Amino acid sequence: MVHLGPIALIAAALIIAKVATELWLCRLNRKHVLAHAGAVPEAFKNIIDEPTYKKSVQYTLAKSKLDEFETIYGAAVLLIVVFCGLLAIAFTSFTNRFGSSAWSAAAFIFLTGIILWLPQLPVEWYAQFRLEDRFGFNTTTPKLWWLDRLKGLLLSCVLGYPLLVLVLKLVEWTGHSWWLWAWGTVLAFQLLMAVLAPVLIMPLFNKFTPLPEGSLRERLLGLAERTRFRARSIQVMDGSKRSRHSNAFFTGFGRFRKIVLFDTLVQQLVEPELEAVLAHEIGHFKKKHIPKMLLASALGSLAGFYFLSVLAQQPWFYSSFGFEPGNLAPALLLFGLLSGAVTFWFSPLAHWWSRRYEYQADSFAAQVMKEPQSLIGALRKLNEKNLSNLTPHPVYSGFYYSHPTLLEREQALAGG
Ligand SMILES: [Zn+2]
Repeated sequence: MVHLGPIALIAAALIIAKVATELWLCRLNRKHVLAHAGAVPEAFKNIIDEPTYKKSVQYTLAKSKLDEFETIYGAAVLLIVVFCGLLAIAFTSFTNRFGSSAWSAAAFIFLTGIILWLPQLPVEWYAQFRLEDRFGFNTTTPKLWWLDRLKGLLLSCVLGYPLLVLVLKLVEWTGHSWWLWAWGTVLAFQLLMAVLAPVLIMPLFNKFTPLPEGSLRERLLGLAERTRFRARSIQVMDGSKRSRHSNAFFTGFGRFRKIVLFDTLVQQLVEPELEAVLAHEIGHFKKKHIPKMLLASALGSLAGFYFLSVLAQQPWFYSSFGFEPGNLAPALLLFGLLSGAVTFWFSPLAHWWSRRYEYQADSFAAQVMKEPQSLIGALRKLNEKNLSNLTPHPVYSGFYYSHPTLLEREQALAGG
């Protein structure tokens, strides 16, 4: 056990406050769902039948229980690793053995990340093969599940580790202004990934095929033409390989941008509904939501790097957690491990922002479709097929939801 300094105590208090808030929100939401569980609420009478509604309540409750467990378990692992002095001891013996170069320090950070990831695996396994399976969503085989994780691990070795080395090298090369250089480097890496991921990384996990010739393709290309959206490609992704959940998304930049529809979505919706979903995605593009979000996250990480550079100069920051000052790597690692306890409190703001964009994209879709009904039909089916929680507590959805609830979106569409 190390003697914890004031900053470590503040960090521990933040983690505990986060856990308490998460558990409180979880319980609040569960109570709200249970209060409406008796019968299908009036607003959804024409949308969902009794058995499906009951099933969605059960699914919500089961997920909420697992969330609660994950919250406590994750925080316990983090508290043990950071606050019992284990990290500092491991770092000292690691650098004694392998030196304190950027390569070795980055390897330590990277290995710590992997070791902390391992305890999460059983929970992920349970979520996929017990919970999702029980509600008929799981289509992943154990082999595919392991392969996904292996690929993820290899990708982070190939991309994440060199980036980490580079950031630590920048500290050596550029002195006091290192944080600005590091920020620029990480930002450039993120932009590069945003461009390359749809072409190089996503195909490692899923198969993408252009939407086949036919009436649906004609209709969607017609929409692209009408909205002057240069559709490089509309692709169908084999989402059904892992899950029966359905979705659509928009990704990439410039020449590499593409609109992706899950094969499960194409099966569940009729043509006008799919057109409305695509119109919604084009709405995000036309309103420049992706560059705006990127800008906001770039500013956030600039503030983060600056804050880190200030902390990293304070000897008491290191000694608070049992480290010797002098090597920036522990500061980087601690920052990575603890930043979640700070950013958590900003997440309602980010989600509120994201929901504003969803309303804008919805309203764009209704405009180009010249009617809101197709989009409403699509949203209803998506909520039904995915067994979404139709009655979240307003505080819970306000805190966590990146998309407005079905009722909120319908009301906005009917009003606009
Ligand atoms: Zn959207």
